[in-house]
Amino acid sequence: MNIVVQKFGGTSVRNLECQRQVMQKVLRPYREGNKVIVVLSAMSGETNRLLGLAEEWSDNPDPAEVDSLVSTGEQISCALFAMLLKQQGVKCRSVLGFQAPVKTDCCYGKARITAIDESRLKGMLQEYDILVVAGFQGCDDSGRITTLGRGGSDTSAVALAAALKADVCEIYTDVPGVFTTDPNLCTDARKIDRISYDEMLEMASMGAKVLQIRSVEFAKKYNVTVHVRSTFSDEPGTIVTQEDENMEAVMVSGIAYDKDQARITLIHVKDNPGVSAQIFSPLAEKKILVDMIVQNPSKDGLTDMTFTVPRADVKPTIKTLEKLQYEIGYEELSSNLNVAKVSIIGVGMRNHSGVASKAFRALADENVNILMISTSEIKITCLIDDKYTELAVRTLHKAFNLEEGKHIE
Ligand code: ADP
Ligand code: ASP
Ligand code: MG
Repeated sequence: MNIVVQKFGGTSVRNLECQRQVMQKVLRPYREGNKVIVVLSAMSGETNRLLGLAEEWSDNPDPAEVDSLVSTGEQISCALFAMLLKQQGVKCRSVLGFQAPVKTDCCYGKARITAIDESRLKGMLQEYDILVVAGFQGCDDSGRITTLGRGGSDTSAVALAAALKADVCEIYTDVPGVFTTDPNLCTDARKIDRISYDEMLEMASMGAKVLQIRSVEFAKKYNVTVHVRSTFSDEPGTIVTQEDENMEAVMVSGIAYDKDQARITLIHVKDNPGVSAQIFSPLAEKKILVDMIVQNPSKDGLTDMTFTVPRADVKPTIKTLEKLQYEIGYEELSSNLNVAKVSIIGVGMRNHSGVASKAFRALADENVNILMISTSEIKITCLIDDKYTELAVRTLHKAFNLEEGKHIE
């Protein structure tokens, strides 16, 4: 049985007209004799609307109920799309997370997929030619509905492709592929034909929301080749796959940005062994993703500890650390929500020096102050004031000639 997985995002399913366009994409592999798994997101804006309702109803909504609520967005798109397909005489049905089943842990709001029972889905594929599967949702061991975090339908699609050993995993979206930077922010952005899992992982984790990070982790782990492309055209998109020699030659492949960041500083922390563990272990237990961490040199046995967290995690971070103020032994906690991360990514950085200095020079020439810096083998990230995000992205994109594809030096 040849299986094709196709995922369509929120803008692609936002109304009847768009869903008709989606149907043309889905009918193609079906008419070629493949079985098709269509993974759908909620119509654009719907997830935000539902999250807004939860906030309106409660100051502290129960996370399991929030998941039960927001998962309805995907249920609606799937039921409507299955109706459209049935009108064409296709044997199809909608499949919700718990029906597949997509098993997850019980971390509501950011659950991780633990297993997919491919035998159930394969059984359904004996009876139906197309399964319209709700993205973003799963169920935990107790049978409660969970969701996989924002953008989670990408992960649903890649996980299904891995579990069913699909021939193709296509992610259809509102842009024609993965670009050197967000094409909606920088008109000079250029489409990348092929990108390695590692670079895509860095791009996604640094804010390029075209693919959810976990979908790329899955793709890498299970060696699923992902094709990111446009719902609204037929042009080939970007292939996300294993690194090859040509990719190594490229020094910088993209610039990512993330405005959804906050900086937390603990002032005058006692500089004792174990203090970092005291600060970061309780945050890890709460599944708060801490990223850039800087500890200043200590003076008189005291130091300052600065780190970044996603904006949504600021409240629980402050609450957790304030409770531990005496235990950790710090004087003051300050937070800054007006920060953004801008990152330069490229596997070729491993073999080229001078990327960092070139980036810092370019930002300095535009008077953009760098608040924090962190680096990995294939990435340099600068934390800046968020009002300079667009300027910084365009400046770095230009500094590395990404618009011309001449970023090999
Ligand atoms: P979908 O609803 O289809 O899942 P998303 O909004 O989640 O779509 O992701 C697509 C968006 O990602 C694009 O509209 C674009 O603004 C943004 N984006 C950010 N960085 C990039 C990039 N490097 N390449 C392509 N798109 C990007
Ligand atoms: N509907 C969810 C969201 O808006 C999941 C997705 O679209 O991938 O985040
Ligand atoms: Mg998305």
